Amino acid sequence: MKPSAEALVIAAHPDDAEFGAAGTVARWTREGKQVVYLVCTSGEKGTADRTMEPLRLAGIREGEQEAAARLLGVREVEFLRLPDQGLEDTPEFRKMIVRAIRTYRPVTVVTSDPYRRYIWHRDHRIIGQVTLDAVFPFARDHLAYPDLLDEGLEPHKVREMLLFGSEDVNFRSDITATLDMKVAALRCHESQIRELGKNDLKAWVREWSCSMAEGTECELAEAFHRIEIAR
Ligand SMILES: [Zn+2]
Repeated sequence: MKPSAEALVIAAHPDDAEFGAAGTVARWTREGKQVVYLVCTSGEKGTADRTMEPLRLAGIREGEQEAAARLLGVREVEFLRLPDQGLEDTPEFRKMIVRAIRTYRPVTVVTSDPYRRYIWHRDHRIIGQVTLDAVFPFARDHLAYPDLLDEGLEPHKVREMLLFGSEDVNFRSDITATLDMKVAALRCHESQIRELGKNDLKAWVREWSCSMAEGTECELAEAFHRIEIAR
């Protein structure tokens, strides 16, 4: 049986966790919290380079994700290797998420907000919805996926969800002390940062984090829609 973790970050693609929550993850690991990543695809369609082979890109992006996670002090990265641009809301996919939740037994689950309107990567929308459903009620109820119970994966109640990419922000996490870690973790995703076309990545991340901190005491923040799940 694997040791439990305080936080489980469930991402559609390598780099989603860093864009959405690296500053917060760095703060947690500094505090001694255990953080695990579940990355559902290997991002093999994320390129504008016509000469790049999807399989090769998947390998590159998994390596970039592992480097970023190592830098942030993340304990473990698990890849599901589902198809990029191919996540669907199915009982099988939901079960994979339930399995991870029951394995790592997190207090907090972090993923993308499925309710961002209009232009939003379909994988981000699907993963947010499937994760919400997996947390409640499927990971909680022993009669959901009874074969998981047979494997020894007991039901688990997640206490809190943090959704990044939200248009309905109700929680801002202070990343003033960990901004540099976020920038360094983003730099690990070289294949993606190159195509982002920012001359000064650090200045861009700082400006973005500063706007996320508006109306709070902190200087720099990551913004989430936070859900507390009743016991
Ligand atoms: Zn993504």
